[in-house]
Amino acid sequence: LAYLDYNATAPVRPQAMEAVLAAMREAGNASSTHRSGHEAAARVTVARRQLAELLSCSPGELIFTSGATEANNLALRAAFSAGGAIVTSMVEHPAVLETAKHLTRQQSDLLRLVPVDGEGVLDRDAFHCALAEGGAALVSLMAANNETGVLTDLGPIVEAAHAAGALVHTDATQMVGRLPIDLAVLDVDLLSLSAHKFGGPQGVGALFVRRGVQLPHHPLIYGGGQERGWRAGTLNVPGIAGAGAAAEAAHYGMADESTRVAQLRDALETALVEQIDDCRINGTAARRLPGVTSITFTGAPADAVLAAMPDVAASEGSACSSGAPGPSHVLLAMGRSREEAEATVRFSMGPGSTGPDVTQAVTSAIRAVRKVRAALSAPV
Ligand code: PLP
Repeated sequence: LAYLDYNATAPVRPQAMEAVLAAMREAGNASSTHRSGHEAAARVTVARRQLAELLSCSPGELIFTSGATEANNLALRAAFSAGGAIVTSMVEHPAVLETAKHLTRQQSDLLRLVPVDGEGVLDRDAFHCALAEGGAALVSLMAANNETGVLTDLGPIVEAAHAAGALVHTDATQMVGRLPIDLAVLDVDLLSLSAHKFGGPQGVGALFVRRGVQLPHHPLIYGGGQERGWRAGTLNVPGIAGAGAAAEAAHYGMADESTRVAQLRDALETALVEQIDDCRINGTAARRLPGVTSITFTGAPADAVLAAMPDVAASEGSACSSGAPGPSHVLLAMGRSREEAEATVRFSMGPGSTGPDVTQAVTSAIRAVRKVRAALSAPV
């Protein structure tokens, strides 16, 4: 199987697996005061430092959660509870969009959804208009889109949002561990991440809260006061240890790895565009994550295409919201028709991806798209 679905989840890195197993071999609640507890707490401390090094933040600015969904919920709820509007975009992950809609359900004027252009790039004028309305408590914009890989130029956004008195959150789930993020320079107040996107275990993530940021204390989960009261419950020591080890491994050699993966992605796109008529790459004119491509094979529904290429793991739109009916809201926001959105496949690559994976995906996709198109155009 050619695994080209890293945006859904990345295979666990060997270093992460080792760290998870090492933590599981020894009992220990990180809150206990005996030696086993101290050892568990020490693993958490190491992991917090490893993640902080990846992001250039301080370890004390990280709150461990069950993933980016929880981190996004926590960030949006806390910021919104201060009062004010939420400015976000139409192409956010449901973990942001649905949370924002839920929070503002009784005052829909407090939700301002900024559109994107045909390449998936945020409409700057519309963003400034949304801020100019005044009263924004939070701007939440993703660092990289999970379906297209399109990046958001966060620097100027942060500046404008701060000038308008709003906090800035970024869902950086798809960017962390893939491209550098330097929180000493990028002045966001809040950032969400999920370990399984960069080779850590599933079910663990973190919310970065910049020191000094005035955020009403608004936990989602009440209990024993862990994570400075932000996230109660016994810490998931094996998961956290795995997340830290994955962060360290991703950090090491990131520049070379992102170049290598971008070359694989470019090779995949070139081969598909050359050999399949009527296909279109989404967001190709924008700055994108290195390993992701979203391709529309006009007239070939993605579910049928994927079913016809069982030797390749790829996604229809976004696997994170599969199960949700309807075409991708991201592609619709980019002005694609329903048919185009439903004929779109996402391939996403990472450290384990190879040239032969790309060759296999190209061969399979060509065969699958031809087969599906022929079946649909055959006389009944
Ligand atoms: N945000 C983005 C951009 C994602 O791609 C995902 C992926 O699933 C999430 C949030 C949610 O992450 P998790 O399911 O690990 O909580």
